Amino acid sequence: MRELVVLSLGGTIASVAHEAGGLVPVYGGDDLVRGLVLPPDVRLGALPLRTLPSPALSSDDVLAVRREIDVLADGGVSGVIVTQGTDTIEETAFMLELLGAAQRIPVVVTGAMRGADAAGADGPANLSAAVAAALAEHDPGRGVVVAFADRLHAARYVVKYSAGVVDAFSSPPVGPIGWVSEARARFALAPTPIEPLPVPSAPVPPVAVVQAGAGDDLRLLDALPDLGYGGAVIAAMGAGHVAAPAMPAVRRIAERLPVVVASRIAGGPTTRATYGYAGSELDLRKAGVVFATSLTASKARVLLGLLLADGASLEEIERRFEAIG
Ligand code: ASP
Repeated sequence: MRELVVLSLGGTIASVAHEAGGLVPVYGGDDLVRGLVLPPDVRLGALPLRTLPSPALSSDDVLAVRREIDVLADGGVSGVIVTQGTDTIEETAFMLELLGAAQRIPVVVTGAMRGADAAGADGPANLSAAVAAALAEHDPGRGVVVAFADRLHAARYVVKYSAGVVDAFSSPPVGPIGWVSEARARFALAPTPIEPLPVPSAPVPPVAVVQAGAGDDLRLLDALPDLGYGGAVIAAMGAGHVAAPAMPAVRRIAERLPVVVASRIAGGPTTRATYGYAGSELDLRKAGVVFATSLTASKARVLLGLLLADGASLEEIERRFEAIG
């Protein structure tokens, strides 16, 4: 008998209409697994960890999930499914991935776009796809997988690209790494493995994401150190560009905090040596920033936070972004 466990965190998959109006997460893992059709040799347990909308999930919540996965693996569980809100799956799954959560057993994250009591609720179908992915042969190099609408995405690339349609996830620039059909997961691709980061013992410092726009001088950057931020991610235009008037603020902040430049286009990638005008990547490099390559600003925020919690130097931060992005 193989045992899988659903760690539930809340989100739309666990939400029903509240009498005061709107969807609110109320269900725990037990409610989610009830009635799910499983292969005869599989038992699906449930462990409710949080009942939160996913924007409220903190690094501490994700670290609690990470610790629980180890406890379950020690206890002989053969795979873990994390259910949560879709708004932050791309961050949670990536953080778990960076912390080596899927090194020992498969870890699959899923959610739903429609509430649990909505017509055509997609939660049960997504959970079934996640079960199929968690039952596939374990490949530690594959990392944490996001199962959604029968597609399987690598945590490193997956983004929520629509807040409206049911098939809400995509994985620029590579696409999904597999799919589920007839209750079986097929993995067609494997991402290059990530060297896991240590599970932080210090709190993860706050990292600000500041989005650049045409002509914006990014004066907001100057406020970050006094607000207690430990690092900054600039969601820059195109391949990693800011307006020329933003460069003085970028130079000032890069002297005070580690700064990562991501593209505001999902999947980027940022370039390092294509353009040479004021505010381009060559100018930004001279200011001492690190480039996120294909990592979105949200994922860059997660990676930079973990590296800062680990006391990483700027050289180490650059090395990790080069390797992972
Ligand atoms: N819209 C979100 C969801 O799909 C809400 C959340 O992320 O909790 O679950």
